[in-house]
Amino acid sequence: RKIQFQGEARPKKLINKEPTTEIILQKAKDLKKHRQSLPIYTARDIIIKEVKDNACVVIVGETGSGKTTQIPQYLLESGLAAYGTIAVTQPRRVAAINLAKRVAEEVGTPIGQRVGYSIRFDDTSSRDSLIKYMTDGIMLRELLSDRLLLRYSVIILDEAHERTLRTDILFGMVKSIQKQRQDLIDKGKKDVQPLKIVIMSATLDAEKFSEYFYNAKIMYISGRMYPVKILNTVEPQSDYVDSALVTAFQIHQEEAPGDILIFLTGQEEIENLEKLIEEYGVDLPPTVGKLIPCPIFAAQDSATQQRIFEPAPPGTRKVILATNIAETSITIPNICYVIDTGCHKSRGYNAKIGIESLLVEPISKSSARQRSGRAGREAPGLCFRLYTEDAFEQLEEDAVPEIKRCNLEAAILSLKATGIDDVTGFDFMDRPSKSGMLRSLEHLYALEALDDEGHLTDIGKKMAAFPVDPPFAKVLLQSEKMECTREAIDIISLLSVDSIFSAPSAKREEANEARQKFTSLDGDHLTLLNTLRAYESVKGDRDWCRENFINSRHMRHVMDVRKQLIEFCHRAGGMDPTKSCGHDLEIVLKCFLAGFFQNTALLQPDGTYKSIIGGQTVSVHPSSSLFGKKREAIMYNELVFTTKHYIRGVSALESAWLSQAAPKYFGRRQA
Ligand code: ADP
Ligand code: MG
Repeated sequence: RKIQFQGEARPKKLINKEPTTEIILQKAKDLKKHRQSLPIYTARDIIIKEVKDNACVVIVGETGSGKTTQIPQYLLESGLAAYGTIAVTQPRRVAAINLAKRVAEEVGTPIGQRVGYSIRFDDTSSRDSLIKYMTDGIMLRELLSDRLLLRYSVIILDEAHERTLRTDILFGMVKSIQKQRQDLIDKGKKDVQPLKIVIMSATLDAEKFSEYFYNAKIMYISGRMYPVKILNTVEPQSDYVDSALVTAFQIHQEEAPGDILIFLTGQEEIENLEKLIEEYGVDLPPTVGKLIPCPIFAAQDSATQQRIFEPAPPGTRKVILATNIAETSITIPNICYVIDTGCHKSRGYNAKIGIESLLVEPISKSSARQRSGRAGREAPGLCFRLYTEDAFEQLEEDAVPEIKRCNLEAAILSLKATGIDDVTGFDFMDRPSKSGMLRSLEHLYALEALDDEGHLTDIGKKMAAFPVDPPFAKVLLQSEKMECTREAIDIISLLSVDSIFSAPSAKREEANEARQKFTSLDGDHLTLLNTLRAYESVKGDRDWCRENFINSRHMRHVMDVRKQLIEFCHRAGGMDPTKSCGHDLEIVLKCFLAGFFQNTALLQPDGTYKSIIGGQTVSVHPSSSLFGKKREAIMYNELVFTTKHYIRGVSALESAWLSQAAPKYFGRRQA
């Protein structure tokens, strides 16, 4: 018999059976051998000594040699955590979670105790955490409340070679914090301890990091590498997903045992290929073992994620479908074959019209080399490049650091909020373009985050604290005034996933029909909201989702984000997250316009839309509910540059709303 109780006794996450202390300790004991077999183990004592003797150390080592999982433990074992936590920053959330869980196992305590992680919307770390894996975004956020990062004794900046925007900002911040702390110590401050900085990178070009950190010592950890034979295609491939599918089955049927790793560009692609592999697998002759697809991406539960580390059942072969997370962040064992599509997604910034674009782009030569290297960790391997040798020769040598390509607003806001007013004079490893900085400063001014002198306003201070990009932060702040916080939170959460609608190509008609029910004449923002309300009314029923072509996994993610945003607005923002505008939904659109007035376009006599700022012709994306509709003026959330300038997340508005939404911007322009 089962007794049902109202409400939840414990949050869902904890309901997973927790292993007993004995099991955890036994596991840690078992892992000890593995730890000692890693290439880095022989360098343990030298690493400890160098970090103790120097303020900054740069450590370079082949992917899989043990840098990320072992070095923090070595420093912990050597007593360096005695006066503060050891922080390890990661550019990617999945990596932060996965590595923290692994290290917690190795240390032998449940996750969240001695070893924890902290990523946006999910913090397992506690005051007792001695090693903390975190995204670089979280560390920047922590700087707001702990300017000298006094709770940390060592900061390990991992994956430095990736040169993401945030890592670059962190470089500058951490460098300055180290100096500030030392100055305080020199002045006789007793309660301040020096900060150790460790830079870790998987590629050899470490001189630049070393130079930046006062010519810090570079340590090279030699890894074990077997030769990898590179095979390029003879002809260029038009559809790399299809080519990857064919190649995977070719390997499976013709080559010796050993798992396959395929590099793709994103979650959607990964899920597509996963389905295709399952479909094709059915037709394999009975003598051939199963080919088991194992995807890895952020929105997975950890049991699924752990599958990539477990050996394939005898007679079968695993094929791992990953983004460039598997390039250097996470080492997957038993890979003998790599299929390299030659592409990745990167955030770019089109400086001419000031738009952000998420493009699938060719990788660099150094990425291609990293990818092929994944096949030679345990035995000689093969790398199948789905592009020609000529195409390889044409690739850039190294990726351009993100700071040279991207939108800087959130970064500038963080810098300002951290007390760095002179952002143009900040100690960047690579200075962003002056024009890019000025444009971002202008946008922040228009959003009323900065005043006439460029100082952070009260609004700007609040915006910097919000865990969302500046325009969304502005929407949330505005929603308080307009009394539609509930709707604003709902819609922002809905926009946090690619799409809540699923549109399988075989059932496109049906899917479109199902969507009609939720479609608002005002566009996507309210369509999303309608869908969420319907989803709530059936309590997220999975059958209902299937019948209505709603992606229930994405929907659950939306609900997660929403919960966090509600908590945030309530706790930190001091707002009432339940404040609702009821049926007067026009208010919601006006509220979004306060953050997205720059993403607006007017209907032209010829029926096209032209952006108000920049005069760019933009096309409503076919997935939008305003596709093919003609409205006086529209706003959009996203401009995606593929073959055209497509806009997504589109809603109709009245042009008269514009000057209200951004008096500083449109008022000034008119004057
Ligand atoms: P590096 O940072 O030098 O690239 P890591 O410290 O990430 O190396 O990895 C060291 C070893 O630990 C690798 O052999 C990897 O396969 C193993 N490892 C890391 N995470 C896990 C995990 N979650 N499960 C099993 N093995 C893991
Ligand atoms: Mg690593």
